[in-house]
Amino acid sequence: MQRSTKIVATLGPATNDPDVLTRIIAAGVNVVRLNFSHGKAEDHIGRAQMVRDAANRLGVAVAIMVDLQGPKIRVGKFEKNKITLEPGQLFILDAACELGNSERVGLDYKELPRDVSAGSVLLLDDGRLVLDVQSVQGSAIHTRVRIGGVLSNNKGINRQGGGLSAPALTAKDMDDIKVAAQLEADYVAVSFPKSGADMYMAKTLLLAAGSKAQVVAKIERTEAIANLEELVEASDVIMVARGDLAVEVGDAAVPALQKRMIRLARSKNKLTITATQMMESMITSPVPTRAEVSDVANAVLDGTDAVMLSAETAAGKYPIETVEAMARVCIEAEKSSDYQLDRDFLSREFTRVDQSIAMAALFTATHLKVKAIVALTQTGATALWASRVNCGVPIYAMTPELGTYRRLSLFRDVHPMTLDHDCDQKSLLESAEKRLRDQDLVQSGDLLVVTVGDTVGQMGSTNTMKIVRVA
Ligand code: PGA
Ligand code: MN
Repeated sequence: MQRSTKIVATLGPATNDPDVLTRIIAAGVNVVRLNFSHGKAEDHIGRAQMVRDAANRLGVAVAIMVDLQGPKIRVGKFEKNKITLEPGQLFILDAACELGNSERVGLDYKELPRDVSAGSVLLLDDGRLVLDVQSVQGSAIHTRVRIGGVLSNNKGINRQGGGLSAPALTAKDMDDIKVAAQLEADYVAVSFPKSGADMYMAKTLLLAAGSKAQVVAKIERTEAIANLEELVEASDVIMVARGDLAVEVGDAAVPALQKRMIRLARSKNKLTITATQMMESMITSPVPTRAEVSDVANAVLDGTDAVMLSAETAAGKYPIETVEAMARVCIEAEKSSDYQLDRDFLSREFTRVDQSIAMAALFTATHLKVKAIVALTQTGATALWASRVNCGVPIYAMTPELGTYRRLSLFRDVHPMTLDHDCDQKSLLESAEKRLRDQDLVQSGDLLVVTVGDTVGQMGSTNTMKIVRVA
């Protein structure tokens, strides 16, 4: 059974064994995420090579997404690695403190005291601990503990309601962008972007480093919600980064925001990844909870391109079982998803010839009940447009470009294939049809809608839609 929704899996210690890596890819991983908040450049470069090798051996398209650390604001380290905070006690976050104890701790982001004031609420360790700011004295933020607990080295800090001034791209991120270029990342995710400008900046730095990676905006701070339209416009992909987002805007606001983000991105021909805690209990358990199954299925029904795994595959005990479970849940949810051309389909605006062909192909595919759409594409643009509308048929995107082939692995409903376009249109159509027949994806008598350009092999040249009955 073919799966339309894609799976992004984060790599880490649990996937360092090439055998485990190969098995999670075989189980259905379409995109791997290299989390630059952990590990050294050499580790990531080594992992990227392992991924390319495994994907080649299995003959599948796997994209690599580099996830930049961004300005994650963290407490410093403690003398004894951790402390316990009691509700009601006083606690100081002090930018000038070197090594923390039960009274105070340092800050890696020295500007924090300037960004908060009496009345601010700080959430530590993904919101597990809550501190109320009482006053700011120089470099020291004096707080009273509202919700206590264990606080260990380098735990993250968020401010409720957002408003922290840290820029999205840190000096480390700028170095890491060069590493991303070196390992030929297909996607690069920017953490905590506030505006479209942050994304243009990342794109510019990537191009300067010689990378053609697509950019992913992680929507995880309050300001990003206010600037959602421009962030979608400035990015290729939107990540619903529910971990930090829940801390900043309140957990209860996240489900509706997830739906809004996915709808907006699709309508603007952009991709989406739904992330964080999707199969959290599988870090230590071989089966998901009922709530996790529903969460993954609901993201599929919302229309997300991909669902993401974090610690489940990076550091969990059951990485292979987790991917298998996620794939199974996606397939089942897709069966029930109500496939109809999105209602706004006819009112979409487009001016390009190749886009008109993609739209015509969708319209035809729906009305003629074709078996598949075949997009013979250089950049993947036709496949992107066709996949932004719920048409209920698989889109086989055949490209001679290796970069396009890998990138397409994130697109919902799209099945990437490599195909040499170095021939006339007639032979190209024949070899495309043969490919699908050889792989038993279509049978004699099936109808296909094919999009192709007159000038085969030229970017943006798609100007033809052909309806083909398989011989
Ligand atoms: P992170 O991003 O895992 O890098 O923090 C995702 C999120 O915040 O949900
Ligand atoms: Mn985050």
